[in-house]
Order: sequence, then structure tokens, then C-alpha cells
Amino acid sequence: MFIMSEDSQRTQGRDAQSSNIMAGKAVAESVRTTLGPRGMDKMLVDSGGDVVITNDGATILNEMDIEHPAAQMIVEVSDSQEEEVGDGTTTAAVLAGNLLGEAEDLIEQDVHATTIVEGYHEAAEIALEAIDEQVNEADVDDEILRQVAESSMTGKGTGGLTAASLAETVVEAIRHVDTDAGVARDNVTVHTQIGASSNATELVPGIVVDEDPAHDGMPSEVEDASIAVLDVELDVRTGDVDAEYAIDSIDQLNAAIDAEEGELEGYAETVAESGADVVFTTEDVADRVANALANEGVLVFEGLGDSDARQVASATGARRVGDLDDLEESDFGSADRIHTETYGDDDLAFVEGGAAAETVTVFVRGGTEHIVDELERAIGDALDVVATALESGEVVPGAGATEISIADKIREEAAGIEGRKQLAVTAFADAVDIVPRTLAANTGRDPIDVLVDLRAAHESEGRAGLITKGDEVTIDDPFEHGVVDPADVKREAVESATEAATMIARIDDVIAAE
Ligand code: ADP
Ligand code: MG
Repeated sequence: MFIMSEDSQRTQGRDAQSSNIMAGKAVAESVRTTLGPRGMDKMLVDSGGDVVITNDGATILNEMDIEHPAAQMIVEVSDSQEEEVGDGTTTAAVLAGNLLGEAEDLIEQDVHATTIVEGYHEAAEIALEAIDEQVNEADVDDEILRQVAESSMTGKGTGGLTAASLAETVVEAIRHVDTDAGVARDNVTVHTQIGASSNATELVPGIVVDEDPAHDGMPSEVEDASIAVLDVELDVRTGDVDAEYAIDSIDQLNAAIDAEEGELEGYAETVAESGADVVFTTEDVADRVANALANEGVLVFEGLGDSDARQVASATGARRVGDLDDLEESDFGSADRIHTETYGDDDLAFVEGGAAAETVTVFVRGGTEHIVDELERAIGDALDVVATALESGEVVPGAGATEISIADKIREEAAGIEGRKQLAVTAFADAVDIVPRTLAANTGRDPIDVLVDLRAAHESEGRAGLITKGDEVTIDDPFEHGVVDPADVKREAVESATEAATMIARIDDVIAAE
């Protein structure tokens, strides 16, 4: 009896397990070489020829057109890592892949999948305890936050020197939106602008929108601005029946023109008299109205996209007005200064200070599109990790040191675990070793030698990581060198990798409809 369509494909038992595990491992393997400060970049070219150059695990996995369902689960690991904590996406994917690799060996040794799953979950608990033990004792101050930002950016296309100044900018941005109610991460935006070097990246105390004034005669700078945000067309409505006239005499023509002019002048007057000195509108503004407002010294931006209008309104405290008759001073937002600047072919409006300064914009500069795109990702990650570290107040040593202590603690406690489950717990520790091993391999070191040295240093000194500073690679306490990661990044990596690996290992039947 057939219960499935003849076209559907079914793989069962060991075959299903090993094909899933292989797919998962392959995906993790594909991002391994990008891990750490000496990680390499990947160039991804899509079918349309668009190119993305990146070092970011989540970006790589999303750009790769991955179809295998088990492989897709590893992509989800790095996605959830990105979403929850904003960094550690490569670490999480590589860990998940190695947990699968170890699971494969265990299955070959006839350890049942449910035993593996139990062992992995127990080991993950021990790993979380080990992370707690590694948490810094000192307060997370600006210095540590800068270290967190810099550690997350090293190895990205930021270039050695600038990482330090970018880190400074990132910390300043997060401090700016740190309130009693927590870090308002959403109040930090990143605006990229090609041209100049990444060193020119700066923090704007407000927002930046891609807009130029509606008229050349308008001021390019307004101080103490009263800002109106309108969804009103300041033009004679085209296609509107009321605006059509049957003209059969010169008087009527003049009357029609007068009526139109009157209407336009009325708009300009209403706006000018309202007291607003800067106007953002999502609709069009007639030249005549723009000209009249320019003469009054009013700065107008027309045809804004809805999201820009929303951003301006929310940053400046303006209320959007849909009908000119309703425009009142109480609807205005405010800013200390609004100015327009030209960068190559682009015109930008900066809305700064006053109410607008509750939000900040990291204004990212870089020589080419690929550079600013990668910088935007790196800065986005850095903003996330600094926010995470500031909110939790918990950081752990980076450079593989936390992973060395995790593996050590798991091995120690595995001795007390009975039966085959012990094998699974130990295998988890072996999988965690992938992080220091990969950091070693990516710096051109022998992974085994480095692992042995790190364990010895961990035994005698406590914290021991493989620190990369410029051309030098040393084994030392990462806290001493400012190589730190938020504790939550490590916790999330352990949890999401364990979850995906155990889910994949437990599958022994794959039924695919065609
Ligand atoms: P992920 O996507 O997992 O964040 P990264 O390529 O950003 O991958 O690498 C993160 C790893 O690099 C972390 O383990 C971090 O501690 C380590 N790291 C960062 N800076 C240094 C450094 N200067 N020396 C050694 N390791 C570092
Ligand atoms: Mg990172």
C-alpha cells in the first residue's frame, strides 16, 4: 500500500542521519576560515552578478543559496545568533558543525542518538556554568566597552588603525542612547556614504536623510529649527476635476490663472505664517510655492519616503500633519541645527541637536561601496555587542580562552557521568576546541600545538587565549590585552549550536515531497 505520492523521496536510518550531518558540517566548514582577527573574507557573487565581500558569518550563510534542509538549520543558528546578540555568528555555526561531526563519530561507535542528545544537553549546562565562572569581576566601563567593540571589529574590513577610533565612536553612540530604562539600541542608526576614508566616519547627534532642498534659494542651514512634517501636496492638484476650467475668453483665462496663483500663494502663506522654518513633506511642492517659501527663508524638503518622514517626526518630536488647515505650532518638532551637504552626487540633510539628539547616527565613510557595506555590518555588530555588554555588565575573555575553560570544565565533570553518555559529554568538549583550533589555523599556527600550549597556560595561569595584535601572536590573558566578548554572545552560541546539532542528530527519517 502506498501512503505517499510516488514522487516523494525517503531516506531512512543511518543514511538519513549521515546525509543530514554531512550537510550541516559542510555549511559550518564554509565559514570556518573567516573566524577571528586573521579570518579571511569571502566574495559572494549572485546569479545577477552582484558582489558582496564579507567576513560576517550570518551574511555569508544567507547569501549562499543553501537548499538542504539540515544545512538550512545551521544557517538558522547563525541567524538567531545575529538576532539575539548581534555577533558570534561564525562561532555558533562552526560549533554546531563540529558538534555534528562529533555526533557522527559517536553514531559510528553505536552510541544511540538519544544518548548523544542527553549528553550534549548536559555538557551545554556545564558550558554555561563555565561561562559564568569566566565573567569579569570589574565593572564594565567605557574602556571595556571599547575593547568589546574593537574585538568584534578586528578582522573585518576596517583596517587595523581605524578599528580603535571606530570602537570609540560606537561606544559614544551607545552611551548616548543609554537611559534608566535600558539601552535604546533602535535610536542608533547607521548611514553609509561612499567617499573619503573610513577614518572620516563620525557620529552625528541626530539623523541623516537623503534629501536636498526643494529650491536653490533656500537656506542651507537653519538654527533652532521649528520643524513641520507634512503629508500635504503644496501644488495645484493635477487630475482633479475642480482644477479644470472651460476657457472661452481671455478674462476667464486670467481668472483661472489668478485662481491657481491664489491657491499656491495661499499654501506658501499658510506655511510661512505657521512659524515653521523647516518643512519636510511626503508630497510634491510646486516651484512657485518653493520660490515663495525660499523668499521667506523657509527650508523645504519634498517627496520624502514614508520611513524618512517617520524618522524625522520621531527624532524631532514633530506630529505629522495631513491637512494644512490643521497645522499648528504644537505639531512642530525641533532641532538645534539643520544643514544640507553635498557628497559627490548625493545631497544629504543633517538634523541635529535639540529633541533630535535623542537619536544618533553613525555616519559611515569609506572609499567604495563594498567597503562601506562591510563597515556597516561591522559597526552594526559592534553596536549590538556594546549594547549587550552594557546591559548585562558581563564580559568574558576572548581569543579562545573562554572555550578552553569550557572544554576543561566539561572534561573534568564528564568523569562523574556514567555509561555511554560520558562519551557524548566528552565529545562536546572536543567540539568546543574548534574555536581555539580555528583561531590558531587562521593565524597560520599548528592547531594541535596551540591547543596543548593553551591548555598548559590555562592550567598554570587561569585565563589563556591566542592573542593577535598586529603581526604578533601570543598566548596570554585576553583581559590583559583587551580581547573581550560579551558573555551573552558565548551563551547564545552554546545554546543555539546545541539545539541545532541535537535536532539534526535525532532525525532518522527524511521524507521529501517532490
Ligand atoms: P564571529 O562571527 O563568531 O563573531 P569573528 O570573526 O568576529 O567571528 O571572530 C570572533 C572571535 O575572534 C572571538 O572568539 C574573539 O574573541 C576573537 N578575537 C577578537 N579579537 C581578537 C584578537 N585580537 N586576538 C585573538 N582573538 C580575537
Ligand atoms: Mg564577530
